[in-house]
Amino acid sequence: MKLIEEFYFSATHVVPRLPRWHPCAHMHGHEYVVHLELLIIREQRVPSRAARGCLDLTRFEQWVDKALNHSHLNGMTEVPIPVNIAEAIYKRWIGEIPELTAVKVHEVTAVEYRPDSRREGRL
Ligand SMILES: [Zn+2]
Repeated sequence: MKLIEEFYFSATHVVPRLPRWHPCAHMHGHEYVVHLELLIIREQRVPSRAARGCLDLTRFEQWVDKALNHSHLNGMTEVPIPVNIAEAIYKRWIGEIPELTAVKVHEVTAVEYRPDSRREGRL
């Protein structure tokens, strides 16, 4: 059974080796989403909720909060772009979370404000 667990943090970074005109060449911040892809091998017929409960990600969640949230990511990896951040997280945690099969990181790049009066079909 494959599970995806989602975590959030906010951090700053500077992407090196970009031309000075590029906005990411200067310190700026993002909100990030981390997806942990976990493969749970069910040795017996265990209901999916029970299998999920066997996996305690509390330490990972605490690490995200203490090590990543409100941090500057350039200390984590030389070029702190999402793929490198994902690789660093994977390498940091595969020893403690053997069920981990992949880490996906993406920057939250857009938000939307839509007043109730503009919801589809109500204009
Ligand atoms: Zn950025």
